[in-house]
Amino acid sequence: MNMSEYVIGIDIGGTKLATVVADKNAKILNKIRRPTESNKGPEFAIQTLFEMIYETIEDVNIKKQDISGIGVSCGGPLDTKTGIVYSPPNLPGWDAYPLKNRLENEFNIQSVIENDANASALAEYRFGGGKGYDIVLYMTMSTGIGGGIVINGEIYHGTNDSAGEVGHQILLPNGPLCGCGKRGCLEALCSGPSIARRAKETVENYPESLILTLVNGDIDSIKSEHVFEAAKQEDEVALKLVDVTAYYMGWGIANLVNILNPDIVLLGTIAIAAGDLLLDPIRKTVSDLAMIRPAEVVRIMPAKLGESLGDMAAISLVI
Ligand SMILES: [Zn+2]
Repeated sequence: MNMSEYVIGIDIGGTKLATVVADKNAKILNKIRRPTESNKGPEFAIQTLFEMIYETIEDVNIKKQDISGIGVSCGGPLDTKTGIVYSPPNLPGWDAYPLKNRLENEFNIQSVIENDANASALAEYRFGGGKGYDIVLYMTMSTGIGGGIVINGEIYHGTNDSAGEVGHQILLPNGPLCGCGKRGCLEALCSGPSIARRAKETVENYPESLILTLVNGDIDSIKSEHVFEAAKQEDEVALKLVDVTAYYMGWGIANLVNILNPDIVLLGTIAIAAGDLLLDPIRKTVSDLAMIRPAEVVRIMPAKLGESLGDMAAISLVI
């Protein structure tokens, strides 16, 4: 009997670290979370992770020699072959940090390092909304717009692990400034902060909007969720803002549908919370703008894994 029955998953984010241990059926047996304290840099985080990993397996009486692999979901950019992390915006000080080497030297267990959007796409393909489909495009929709492409069970990495940057396709060359330094990217039009920015500009002229009531008149505290909440209550200004967001999002997805001809496009976070209020107008735009043949087969659905996404993303790399 093969004693290596378990895998470890590590999720490294800008605000939290998570470690899980799972069996070969992807059942999570134990899980620990701690703050990243990203201002303390990568050495602090790696020592914290080492402690967390030992604790995660010892709590459930699993021995190191029974672990067959460590999967790591981490903010990119990073090199999946060498396991070196290159200065992710949310992890200051992780400049050419040899994450894979550090883990393998400590535990002597093979490790797979993957950027979080790609790992999430693989998790959705294997355990979530993409199950049963061959070509799956996953798009995050939260503080940024990231993406991962899974083709017949494999993440599409591109030449140097830079594929899948769906949020930085440029839709409006003179549009709002994006975090990447360019203008008019999809992310600068449809991320949570971008939706909030458009709402703040709009309610200046429509003070009667329910959006303002929801924040007790404090324009600065408007977030994208207030827009969707007001739209659910049929506030006209909010409905218009949802339409504009869905139009840009649908435009961006139509471009990707023409290029990739996917079975399914899965949208995370904001799209999960907003549901058909946002998805229906996105579907309509995609069907209007994409080529007929790829448009008639593609499904556009909310991602399924929700809260467990980070854990499943990490373990899906090694199961
Ligand atoms: Zn950009």
